[in-house]
Amino acid sequence: EKIIVNGEMLERNGFYVDIEDRGYQFGDGIYEVIRVYEGRMYTQEEHLNRLYESAGKIGLNISYTKEELTDHLEKLIQSNQLDTGIIYMQFTRGASPRQHAFPVEPVPASYVAYTKVMARPEVFMKEGVKGHLVEDIRWLRCDIKSLNLLGNIMAKQSASEAGCFEAIQHRGETVTEGSSSNVFIVKEGAVITHPATNLILNGITRQEIQKLCSESGIVFEEREFTVTNLMAADEVFIASTTSEVMPIVEIDNTVIGDGKPGQVTKQLQTLFWNRVVERAKL
Ligand code: PLP
Repeated sequence: EKIIVNGEMLERNGFYVDIEDRGYQFGDGIYEVIRVYEGRMYTQEEHLNRLYESAGKIGLNISYTKEELTDHLEKLIQSNQLDTGIIYMQFTRGASPRQHAFPVEPVPASYVAYTKVMARPEVFMKEGVKGHLVEDIRWLRCDIKSLNLLGNIMAKQSASEAGCFEAIQHRGETVTEGSSSNVFIVKEGAVITHPATNLILNGITRQEIQKLCSESGIVFEEREFTVTNLMAADEVFIASTTSEVMPIVEIDNTVIGDGKPGQVTKQLQTLFWNRVVERAKL
């Protein structure tokens, strides 16, 4: 199995991270997860754009162009003969003697990418999954796709222990997002989701859903909604690169709607998949 390390294709076996890599010590870096369907990346351009944006927000310099990164990732997919799965890629602020401030002498960012086989979660998408409410204790720059994921991890672990698929985080009364997904409610036919502020990651899937709604005349509103609104919604779903459009049919033992994936959610699942087929030319 091959991986990319600083632009080079290497065997995964035998590659180790420096103990003073700032990603390892501080979580000082950023990452992306890109979907691969039948050997083709989906919305890679959007993911790479967001990667550069995240890098810019933490003052990290990526010394590769989008074309170079795309080329690496395409070669990696080919080498590993990846059909349906994901690419994980990350950049850290490199390895240097441990101190919180950025290295004085600039060190090159550490860049790794690897592939992983991952099927579409078809059964969960069809039947819906459970959500678990968790107070959002994260920092105030959730718009950065940072390697620092402790808040997200604690939230997901809490959901896991409650037997739920995803944590639904809220700051006080306001629902923000999942631990690794965005959260949407449907009320009287309108799709509502938290605005793309510093309090959430502006998901690529979220942006795809926004486009799908506007193309098909579904009302899409970016506005804050409360936990009460969530529990009383007609439909709830989450969205992410790996989960696509995933219905939430129960939250902490409260049944949402009639306990089955809702009409608008199902419509968006179909529209989403049609778009994948069209854009990835499957
Ligand atoms: N919000 C958080 C905190 C995430 O970690 C993710 C993705 O993993 C998302 C939202 C969804 O983003 P995307 O649709 O780009 O995968």
